[in-house]
Amino acid sequence: MKKKILSMLLVTAMAASMLCGCGTGSNDAADESGVADEGDADSESDAADEGDAADGDSAAGLTVNDGVLTMATNAYFPPYEYYEGDEIVGIDADIAKAIADKLGLELKIEDMEFEAIILAVQSGKADIGLAGMTVRPDRQESVNFSDTYATGIQVVIVKEDSDIKSLEDLEGKKIGVQLMTTGDIFACEDFGEDAVEQYNKGADAVMALTQGKVDAVLIDNEPAKNFVANNEGLKILDTEYAVEDYAACLNKENDALLEKINAAIKELKDDGTLQEIMDKYITAD
Ligand code: GLN
Repeated sequence: MKKKILSMLLVTAMAASMLCGCGTGSNDAADESGVADEGDADSESDAADEGDAADGDSAAGLTVNDGVLTMATNAYFPPYEYYEGDEIVGIDADIAKAIADKLGLELKIEDMEFEAIILAVQSGKADIGLAGMTVRPDRQESVNFSDTYATGIQVVIVKEDSDIKSLEDLEGKKIGVQLMTTGDIFACEDFGEDAVEQYNKGADAVMALTQGKVDAVLIDNEPAKNFVANNEGLKILDTEYAVEDYAACLNKENDALLEKINAAIKELKDDGTLQEIMDKYITAD
């Protein structure tokens, strides 16, 4: 109950600046470790001497901490971001590193709850949010989005022996989602808040599915594939729920950095780096 109240306070505080999913989270949404403290971004050392900063591009003065590109993410979204030991790796981490290199910046990744990312970018704690984040008009009221760098698909995970065979069969079922994600938003819009159980991490929603606490999980396809591969007895429905664009989010006041990030993304697309990064983490099936 205490957690629920904390969640409500957090959501109320955030409501002014961003549109959320169903409202309150069902578990520890108010994790105070959510937004990183800026104090520890102290390593600006060799950032300026990167040779290949795009066209002599310099991002001097454009980032929260000079010489550093601070990326906010939620590192429980494989293969886009996840922990390998103590290190956050994945598609977004590699893309951010490639962008930082081009801009002559050192990359620093801050892990936080997904719902804290937009706030971190808005409040100047981070320069970019890179988190398999879907471009949505409601989010565009709070942040700018870069050009898109990947496509995401919302899919439904069920147990292998589930009687849910199509999206219509979700009617009357319990749907697990990750708090404040598009899965959360769609499930609430389409099936009503009472049908939706929110979890801080996609993995927690999947765990609830394996334990029979929910009947299905609505989540992005690449993490879904990962979760299904790592949990016995689950499958992904053939029908796609929604197709989305992923992009980096940035502070609305920082058009100059947005331009540089877009230029870097374009270069990474054009020279094949982006595809290489995708291929490194996503094997064709
Ligand atoms: N693409 C989804 C969204 O933007 C989920 C992202 C995530 O969980 N990291 O809401």
